[in-house]
Amino acid sequence: MEIKTVGIVGAGQMGNGIAHVFALAGYDVTLNDISQEALDRGLATIRKNLDRQVAKEKIAGAARDEALGRIRATLSLPELGQSDLIVESASERETIKNAIFEDLQPHLKPTTILTSNTSSISITRLASRTDRPERFMGLHFMNPVPVMQLVELIRGIATDEATYKTMLDLVDSLGKTAASAEDFPAFIVNRILLPMINEAVYTLYEGVGSVRSIDTAMKLGAAHPMGPLELADFIGLDTCLAIMNVLYDGLADTKYRPCPLLTKYVEAGWLGRKSGRGFYDYRGETPVPTR
Ligand code: NAD
Repeated sequence: MEIKTVGIVGAGQMGNGIAHVFALAGYDVTLNDISQEALDRGLATIRKNLDRQVAKEKIAGAARDEALGRIRATLSLPELGQSDLIVESASERETIKNAIFEDLQPHLKPTTILTSNTSSISITRLASRTDRPERFMGLHFMNPVPVMQLVELIRGIATDEATYKTMLDLVDSLGKTAASAEDFPAFIVNRILLPMINEAVYTLYEGVGSVRSIDTAMKLGAAHPMGPLELADFIGLDTCLAIMNVLYDGLADTKYRPCPLLTKYVEAGWLGRKSGRGFYDYRGETPVPTR
């Protein structure tokens, strides 16, 4: 199956990065969102990130201009229907994702492959609500998309071999590396990463270490580029909590119980970088620990 045109649903943090890497790799991209403001912001972010790549001499100015010329933004979801591939990257709510696939369905080509960038929702369940579970997969990019090398590929129970092979080649064509995961809660990266972050929050909660000592310990003692609490703020504490709940519910094991302190931060609206405060306060010049 040859992929030339890609429809991306959701122009947020992940969707604009996904549009960026597809356009740079030569695909024609149609980017959709329900909000014009999100589309405008997404396009501005793509332009800024491409400019940065030109300044760092990672890409030529002409490649940036060509990539920008390959992206079309639209508020109309049906306009994505004729794409060879759909990458759904809208908000992490199952009802939203189901509605998107349902609304797209009457406009799709029979051969269109559907994918979701979900971090935690069952691919098998999303696929089962569509007319083509055999041509449905998880295509899970990492944040920030233009920088991170990995794409997790998740096969649902019904995903056929041809779809899987097409997606393996596609990841290769983006200059990225695929890791294949089975469709179990949170797949590979988040299954391992989030319990570590949650344990860091427990370590803080129980007073074993301060924010600063926990992050320093893991950066210098385990050679992690970011400390776990710094990383939690970057991911978003609401997202961290949601993924822990998916692990806790989906695997029915108490070892995944979210730390009450993580819940407390989310209740306070201290969601990390995006809200200006989390385990660090980002409102001043330099981040200051909040505990
Ligand atoms: P975000 O909130 O930045 O963006 C979501 C976008 O979806 C918003 O612009 C919103 O307007 C749009 N949207 C909502 N409903 C829509 C609809 N019906 N049609 C079209 N657009 C709609 O979220 P994000 O961080 O970009 O996450 C998107 C997806 O990527 C989620 O499934 C998330 O789990 C996954 N993901 C996130 C990360 C991360 O680190 N943030 C990493 C990997 C995967």
